[in-house]
Amino acid sequence: MYDVIIIGAGVIGSNIARELSKYKINVCILEKEDDVSCGSSKANSGIVHGGYSDEPGTLKAELCVKGNKMFKQLEEELNFGYRETGSLVLAFSEEEKENLEVLYRNGIANGVGGMEIIDGDEVRKMEPYLSKEIKWALYCKDSGVCSPYEFTIALTENALENGVKLELNNQVTDIKLSESNFKVITNRGEFETKYIINASGAYSDKVSKMIGVNDFDIIPRKGEYIIFNKDQSYLVNKVIFQVPTKNGKGILVTTTYHGNLLIGPDAQQVTDRDDVSTDEESLRAIIEAARKSVDGFDMKKALTSFAGVRPTNTKKDFIVEETGVKGFLNVTGDSPGLTSSPAIAKKVVTILKDSGLTLEEKEDFKSYRKPIIAKKDENFKGDINSEDPNKHMICRCEKVTETEIVDALNRGIEVRSLDAIKRRTRAGMGMCQGAFCGPRVRDLVAKTLGINENEVKQRGDKSSELHNRVKGLKDLMEDI
Ligand SMILES: Cc1cc2nc3c(=O)[nH]c(=O)nc-3n(C[C@H](O)[C@H](O)[C@H](O)COP(=O)(O)OP(=O)(O)OC[C@H]3O[C@@H](n4cnc5c(N)ncnc54)[C@H](O)[C@@H]3O)c2cc1C
Repeated sequence: MYDVIIIGAGVIGSNIARELSKYKINVCILEKEDDVSCGSSKANSGIVHGGYSDEPGTLKAELCVKGNKMFKQLEEELNFGYRETGSLVLAFSEEEKENLEVLYRNGIANGVGGMEIIDGDEVRKMEPYLSKEIKWALYCKDSGVCSPYEFTIALTENALENGVKLELNNQVTDIKLSESNFKVITNRGEFETKYIINASGAYSDKVSKMIGVNDFDIIPRKGEYIIFNKDQSYLVNKVIFQVPTKNGKGILVTTTYHGNLLIGPDAQQVTDRDDVSTDEESLRAIIEAARKSVDGFDMKKALTSFAGVRPTNTKKDFIVEETGVKGFLNVTGDSPGLTSSPAIAKKVVTILKDSGLTLEEKEDFKSYRKPIIAKKDENFKGDINSEDPNKHMICRCEKVTETEIVDALNRGIEVRSLDAIKRRTRAGMGMCQGAFCGPRVRDLVAKTLGINENEVKQRGDKSSELHNRVKGLKDLMEDI
C-alpha cells in the first residue's frame, strides 16, 4: 500500500515525486513509457520564462514567477543544466510596441523584476546579429534556458535515491475506489494507494475520467522545431521572442543550454496526442518567421527537426487541485509548465497536507545529485581506442566517454534504449546524429547490462518513427 501514487513521470510528476521524497511516506510513480520524460517534457523550448506573458491573477502567472525563482537552487542541487540568459520580446512597429507595454504591465503585476523596454539600437548592442527592422523590445533579465529532459531525469533520480519507487512500462488503464483507498490498475498489475496525483499530461483528462471526474478536456497543440549545429549559436545569446499571437508565444530563436541554435515552435491543434511528426510546410513557415528576428542561420547546419505536444486544457489555466473525489488530485498544465513545475510541486504538498495526509520531514533527505556529463576542458581529445574508460571516446561529436555512458546506466532508472542514453549523455546529438556512435553505444549498453545487442532499441518500441520525423527537413536543407 502506497501513501501516494503519481501517474506520469514528466517534469511535473517528477518534481512532485522529489518534493514528496522529503517526507516519511511511501510514494510510487507509474509511467507508461520505458523512461521518464517521454511526453511534453522531452520536446519543448526549454525556456525558464520570466513570467510576464501570463494574465495576472491566473495560476499560470503565479506559479511561473514562483517556479522561475527556484531554478538556481535546483541547479546547484541537481546539476541538470540551467543558465540565466535574459530574454527579448521584439516589436517591429509602434503598434507592436503597445503589446510590449501590456507584457510589461503584466510582468509588474505578476511580480517579475529586471524588465525594461529598450529601443532597436540598444537591442542590437546586446545582440548584434538581430534584424535592423527591430524598433523596440521588452528585455527581461530573469529568463533562462534549461535542459528539460535532464531536469526531469535528475529530479527522478534524486527522488529514487530518497526512497520513491518508479514503475516504468506501467500504463494506468483503470482506477477503482476500494473502501477509502484507490486501486490503480495498469497493463502489468494492481497498486493500492491512499492518494493519487494525476500528472499524466496530454492524457490527464482520460485518466481523470477513469474515476468519474469529467470537468476538463485536453486539446493537444503540437509545436515543431529545427535544431542546428553549435557553430550557429553565435547568432543569439538571449531567448529571442516576437510579440505573442492568439496562438501563443510565437516563434523563438534561442541557444539551448548545451549551445545549439533552436528555432520554433509553431502551434497546431492536433487530434493524435502522440503526433510528434514534422512536415515541410510547417518547417518552412518556422524558418520564415525566425528569419524576421535573425536572418543569418545556415540551413545546411540544421541537425534535425522535432515536435512536442502541449497538454492545453479547456479550463485555459493550470489545473492543480483535489477533485470532488477525496484523495484524487488533477495536476496538469501546458506552457509555462516546465518553468512552473517546482512551484506546482510545492502547491501539491500543501493540498495533500490540507487534505489530511501526515507529512513528517525526513532528517536524512539527500538533496544533491551528481551530474552525468563530466565537465571537460576545450582541449579534451579522448581516444576512440583507449582502454581507459575516462578517455575512451564513444561519441566524437559531443565528446562522450565510456565512463559517462556506463554511469547513465547505473542511476536507479532502468533504461536501455539509445535515446535514453542520448538524453543523459548527449551521445548522438552532434552533427553525425548517431551515425558514428550509435553502434558503439549499442555495443556498450549490451555489454554493460549483459544483454543481447538486439534488445537495445532506438527508443522503446517506437523506433520506426525516426525516419519519418526528419524527412521534411532533409528536403529543406537542400532547397534553402
Ligand atoms: C512545443 C512546446 C513548447 C514548450 N515550451 C515550454 C517552455 O519553453 N517553457 C515552459 O515552461 N514550458 C514549456 N512547455 C510546456 C511544458 O513542456 C509542459 O507544461 C510540461 O512538460 C508538462 O509536463 P507534464 O509532466 O505534465 O507532462 P508530460 O511530460 O507529458 O508527462 C506526462 C507523463 O505521463 C505519462 N502518461 C500518460 N498517460 C499515462 C497513463 N495512462 N499511465 C501512466 N503514465 C501515463 C506520459 O507517458 C508522460 O511521461 C512547452 C510545451 C511544448 C509541447
